[in-house]
Amino acid sequence: MSAIASPRPRPFLEPEYCKGCLRCIEACPRACITPGTAINPETGLVPVELHLENCNGCSLCMQACPEPFGLRPETERATPALDFELEDPARLFGRKVVANHSQGDRPDEFVPLPACEPMVLKGTYASAVGALLAGCRHVFGYPITPSTEGSELMAKILPKVGGHFVQAASETAAVNMMYGAGGAGVPCITFTSGPGFSLMLEGVSYMIGSEVPGVFVNIMRGGPGLGNLGPEQADIKLACRGLGHGNTHAIVLAPGTPQEMLDLTMRAFELSFVYRNPVVILGDGYLGQMTGVVQLPAALRKPGLPAWAVSGDREHRHNLICSIKLAEEDLETHNRKLNDKYVYISAHEQRSDSYRCADADVLVVACNTPARMAKGAVEVARRDGVKAGLFRPVTLWPFPVDALAALLPHVSRLVIVEGSPGQLEDELRLALSHAGIAPPPISAVQHYGGVLPSQDEILDAILETQGVLS
Ligand code: SF4
Ligand code: SF4
Repeated sequence: MSAIASPRPRPFLEPEYCKGCLRCIEACPRACITPGTAINPETGLVPVELHLENCNGCSLCMQACPEPFGLRPETERATPALDFELEDPARLFGRKVVANHSQGDRPDEFVPLPACEPMVLKGTYASAVGALLAGCRHVFGYPITPSTEGSELMAKILPKVGGHFVQAASETAAVNMMYGAGGAGVPCITFTSGPGFSLMLEGVSYMIGSEVPGVFVNIMRGGPGLGNLGPEQADIKLACRGLGHGNTHAIVLAPGTPQEMLDLTMRAFELSFVYRNPVVILGDGYLGQMTGVVQLPAALRKPGLPAWAVSGDREHRHNLICSIKLAEEDLETHNRKLNDKYVYISAHEQRSDSYRCADADVLVVACNTPARMAKGAVEVARRDGVKAGLFRPVTLWPFPVDALAALLPHVSRLVIVEGSPGQLEDELRLALSHAGIAPPPISAVQHYGGVLPSQDEILDAILETQGVLS
């Protein structure tokens, strides 16, 4: 008497272990599996749905499923220990260990660099070198003048150091690659300019909402629209106030030299991971192309893997990167959390540079390349006996209002110098207003379209405030 073959087990699925890759649907010859229709609240993903009336237990779907606890045979459903473990993910995967370290469970390492002579680098190259020294090995971008050299250098170097450079099909594609890499917990950067940055803003908003790190180097050019390739400071307002829809802010750094392009790019990665938020570096077209002496730091960083990373291994299995909060109360709670972060950043991350400000009667405020002309004007004014000083915001958001406020008691006039129609002045006025401080009279030296203020006209503006010129 021949034995009766027991039926082959059909599959079952715990929805929380399905990532919705749909491979099982392609594998099934009997159309027993269909795409899901509802988001699983545990994971934020959409698990497939099983309809097993025609299932013959061929197991092809289970073989196709890449998830170790995804589709499994019915016979495993009855395993008491597994049932218990499935109810308690900590038992299933072991207790999740999160080291007492702000960067997560694999802390960063620092590798000393040999002493070397200073280098002469253009700004975009200095920023790319800074990214490499910060441990960035993932660059996604779409070429746009005057930022392209940063991407070009990365495209040459990254393959030699085990990194990845992807020239995306568009800025929209590039920013979403940033979202993926940042969500996986790896440092990533892109180089762009105003029109490209505008295209990226939807993705930047998603990254902020999902608390994903990433560094955006925006070498500003003239606007509006395609404008020209001149070094206008056209995107200050965009970076400080307009990072996509919703409640969005990012630290905005404004370097003034190639050395700062390197230093602040390294710092940007650190800030981006500390706050789990994108960081924007705003350079202008001159700064991107200008060469300058650059000294390398004493050490480079080997980044660890943050505890929150969605990296696909056992330790990070239950992590989720998502900005969807469908319930109004949940989204409000999330926004309050983001606001708390913004408040903390505003209080702790203000940066500025002061030149001859201690006794200044006239305070010139400028950043990026215009700050170089402003510094020259301050020196000449001082030789003419005018107590002038230069206040240079290094963070544009948060605006360094605390340092500025400390100088104002002895300042009778501000001269704000910029290559934009008052975007820097707006940030200054807004910051003082929020701080409840009335500004002294303000004179403005503004140019547009890539024309930058000259030292002479800044000097004239300083002297006018003293009645020397009229
Ligand atoms: S066991 Fe075979 S028939 Fe059944 S759902 Fe999977 S692939 Fe389809
Ligand atoms: S193959 Fe596995 S993870 Fe992918 S959709 Fe099917 S059940 Fe889900």
